[in-house]
Amino acid sequence: MHNIVKERWLSVSDKRLKEAIDTLKESGVRITPQRHAVLEYLLNALVHPTADEIYKALEGKFPNMSVATVYNNLRVLKEIGLVRELTYGDSSSRFDCNTEEHYHIICDECGKIVDFHYPPLDEVESLAEQVTGFDVSHHRMEIYGTCEDCQGVETQKH
Ligand SMILES: [Zn+2]
Ligand SMILES: [Zn+2]
Repeated sequence: MHNIVKERWLSVSDKRLKEAIDTLKESGVRITPQRHAVLEYLLNALVHPTADEIYKALEGKFPNMSVATVYNNLRVLKEIGLVRELTYGDSSSRFDCNTEEHYHIICDECGKIVDFHYPPLDEVESLAEQVTGFDVSHHRMEIYGTCEDCQGVETQKH
């Protein structure tokens, strides 16, 4: 990654970390060092990590922390709306702290999930409501393909 991009991105996530901490404080949730670390890791993660990945990334810093602690922290963060859980059938959940409306593109090769922005498809929701009589709560749309990194691997192989 180019340095300029990285620095800009870091300052944005610092701001988001501050905002997230404020939200925690307002919700009366105790900010433990581990909770802080989980949140910070999620905000800095460009991919959408699993609880296991978060655990592995933080276990060096918190030797007494268990995977259950990570799950527990993620549940708390989810309850106050700072984190979204993305479930994908049998594979384990991934966690997303981008709480703005956005869509995901997923790599078929490595499973990486990347955010992209597109105007929310509200019309589809209202159409679905009209034709089915459902009370629509949300929708989920995912795009699949091969990420740039994996495309590179393909090229090297040939
Ligand atoms: Zn990939
Ligand atoms: Zn996302």
